[in-house]
Amino acid sequence: MARYLVTGGAGFVGSHAVLALLDRGHEVVVLDNLTQGHRAAVPSAATLVEAELADTRRVAEVFATWRFDAVLHFAALSIVGASMREPLHYIAENVAHSLRLAEAAIKAGCLRFVLSSTAALFGDPDRVPIDEDCRIAPSNPYGDSKRMVEEGLAWAGRIHGLRFATLRYFNAAGSDPAGRAGEDHDPETHLVPLAIDAALGRRPALTIFGDDYATPDGTCIRDYVHVTDLAEAHIAALARLETHGSCRYNVGSGHGASVKEVIAAVERVGGRAVPHAMGPRRAGDPAILVAASDRLRAETGWTPKHGSLDEIVRTAWAWREAHPKGYGDRG
Ligand code: UDP
Repeated sequence: MARYLVTGGAGFVGSHAVLALLDRGHEVVVLDNLTQGHRAAVPSAATLVEAELADTRRVAEVFATWRFDAVLHFAALSIVGASMREPLHYIAENVAHSLRLAEAAIKAGCLRFVLSSTAALFGDPDRVPIDEDCRIAPSNPYGDSKRMVEEGLAWAGRIHGLRFATLRYFNAAGSDPAGRAGEDHDPETHLVPLAIDAALGRRPALTIFGDDYATPDGTCIRDYVHVTDLAEAHIAALARLETHGSCRYNVGSGHGASVKEVIAAVERVGGRAVPHAMGPRRAGDPAILVAASDRLRAETGWTPKHGSLDEIVRTAWAWREAHPKGYGDRG
């Protein structure tokens, strides 16, 4: 049994990673300010510390109270569109909080760190599927903030011996197959929950952001990876860090789906039409983002178990249908 500090453990991907750790009998301390995350998303088996990462004294206290085997760092500002409006805020917050957290971990002698990174590192990629050797060229401040954090960790690795894994998520979607956690953002900007809510009549028609891309049906192609598979990638990365040095992995299902294909999957799985209308392109959307996750598979044995789009939609649908108000903690 090990003990882990999980920042952002009350958020979408973080809460699923907490479940994966608890399911293995590990001890988990969640540090979350609950601005994006939800108290109800933290299982009672975990300890919740409600605190700001900016509160360095409090963070130091957490490291003084518990000895952690590793830190899993999910907490971040993560909306690409918002980062285009407030670039300096995004960069300052994400970079400062992440690197101060790593500094606190190192001071406390905790030299294992797993970072939630992003496919946004690759901007408009020079090739697809996107492997770890593709050009890093973020096209928005959110992606660039994660690039800066990755670079900071690399220095901490060289100078302090920090062993880190950076996991570049593609499109996280779906929910815990046992229904213990789900996706609840405010505002919701992601395609899968928006399409499901439109089908359930809880939102107006979905707007498709452009159908004039160079893809077979003209809509953008993304790699939707089940959030439970993503959570398992963290378990795999932690095991890898025990025996090897730092690593960087792209995490996706390896299959691309267009916006229209996602809508079709929601209609197939839910048995209801998704009202939708065509709209203009959304600024900053690359046409195709699909991961090559071969390195993660080869080096850790990770393999997606809930990889099909229908399984992703089925679990997402079940959670949203059962939780019309999400976690129910918003006005
Ligand atoms: N999308 C869309 N309408 C929406 C939300 C998203 O057409 O209301 C498209 C978006 O342009 C992208 C894909 O769905 O091609 C996935 O978007 P999402 O915001 O879920 O994730 P992102 O790829 O931006 O991380």
